[in-house]
Amino acid sequence: MSDHYDRTSPVTGESGDPMSEPRFLEIATFMRAPLAKSLEGLDVALVGVPYDGAVTNRPGTRHGPREIRNQSTNVRRIHPLTRTDPFELCRVADVGDVIFETLYDIETAHQNIEDFIARLVEAQVVPLTAGGDHSISYPILRAVARERPVALIQIDAHTDTWDTWKGSRVHHGAPFRRAVEDGLIDPRRTIQIGVRGPQNITDGWDYSEQTGMRVLFMHDVAAMGIEAVIAEARQVVGDGPVYLTFDIDGIDPAFAPGTGTPEIGGLSTLEAQRILWGLDGLDFVGADVVEVSPPFDSAGITALAGASIMYELLNLLAEAIRSRRNGT
Ligand code: MN
Ligand code: MN
Repeated sequence: MSDHYDRTSPVTGESGDPMSEPRFLEIATFMRAPLAKSLEGLDVALVGVPYDGAVTNRPGTRHGPREIRNQSTNVRRIHPLTRTDPFELCRVADVGDVIFETLYDIETAHQNIEDFIARLVEAQVVPLTAGGDHSISYPILRAVARERPVALIQIDAHTDTWDTWKGSRVHHGAPFRRAVEDGLIDPRRTIQIGVRGPQNITDGWDYSEQTGMRVLFMHDVAAMGIEAVIAEARQVVGDGPVYLTFDIDGIDPAFAPGTGTPEIGGLSTLEAQRILWGLDGLDFVGADVVEVSPPFDSAGITALAGASIMYELLNLLAEAIRSRRNGT
């Protein structure tokens, strides 16, 4: 146990590793990781972005980070498939939540998110974020992809490449259209997996396809099978830096009902895990899990799915950090 994992009780003066204690103890942090006191020596920052000011339908994702922290106390360390421990590979800590100057102006709130994530990037700390609605991925990408465009893997029932709606160009159905326009993501190295459900117009689907994104609708995923989805994703994103964004509505509402815009016919939680297991070795520079809305959840299953997906993403990030460290 490194000093990084010390938690000294102000009452007894005893120090211990909260990750080794029974899981129902202590104040909930993401995956029981320590609350960071500084960014020094940190590899991965677990970040909460409790913001849902940009939704088009049901709200509630502002409560996502807190419930994901709570459910993530179920997560333990060693991955059953790889037998690796991401907390051994990397220094991981919960850095708390983005603090908002205002909740009532989306663009200012987004600026607060960008500034927060940019500090992590400048300190060479990789962000793993829990939202929040999907609009937050746009300011995160403005920080992560400031120096060069990144490839994108998006798991989502929706392409989120729609244009201005009800007076906002940065609502949660638009982040990846804005990210293309700003040169933050390379659409030809972008894959969107799990898209489904009827729409009133096809503008978002058309925008994704016309800019060269690979859009795998659920009918494609069902026809191809998971192994072929993995092969396609690896081929599309290639060797360069890649960001992964996971909208929990990519998962079927039978497994993840607590979300703003549910669509039936989605991935099972196991299919989602299998896709992530197949993405090992890619050069991940950040990731997020968004759209967990506890007020619409049942028995915490959506927050548990979000927390467990976050653990899978942590493994992918930790492996990428190890590869960069070793120059492989
Ligand atoms: Mn969605
Ligand atoms: Mn989305």
